[in-house]
Amino acid sequence: MNLILIAPPAAGKGTFASRLTKEFGLVSISAGELLRNIDPETELGKQVRQLQAKRELVPDELINGLIKERLSKDDIKNGFILDGYPRYMAQVDAVNETIKELGLTIDYAVLLNVDYETALKRTLGRVICPNCKRTYNKLTGVCKPINENMCDDCNIELTTRGDDNEESFKKGFETYQKITLPVAEYYKKKGMLIELNSNNDADYTFSEFKSKVGK
Ligand code: ZN
Repeated sequence: MNLILIAPPAAGKGTFASRLTKEFGLVSISAGELLRNIDPETELGKQVRQLQAKRELVPDELINGLIKERLSKDDIKNGFILDGYPRYMAQVDAVNETIKELGLTIDYAVLLNVDYETALKRTLGRVICPNCKRTYNKLTGVCKPINENMCDDCNIELTTRGDDNEESFKKGFETYQKITLPVAEYYKKKGMLIELNSNNDADYTFSEFKSKVGK
């Protein structure tokens, strides 16, 4: 099964992708991760590191090239997830081209739907243990620490991430609606879109997915 995973911020995309990896053996491919793990000795790697050093955006051609290279590897034969890619319509064209060239197919695009308010609460309530990196949420009631603001395992104070504020969340959510939702619409028109309700817990979302794909 080959999937494209589309989600707004704080929709539980990471959790969902790791469930797919564990239960279906799918390989998760994200553009961000490919960029972080790029081999700096390769030609592509050198170009990317240079751009990052200058704090410039990595152009689409490079990202598309990385995705294509990743999809050429043998370990994707059991299925893969394109996690958060394509992010906007120009990348959809690149995916279509790559898939065709490599003789692959996409079975479904999966959209995790979450309400603005729910996603905001998840973002603003997110706290992390600086020691073991375990994450908690003090607003949603899911993964609440036993003692307020302390890590259950390490018993040290939890901290927030600097960009977890309402302003940056709002900006991210609006950008998603403007540039990424059209990608979901595109796959919907092609009859490939599976829409899931991601306002509840991760188990609920995952079982809804399994029933929709008949697993
Ligand atoms: Zn900890």
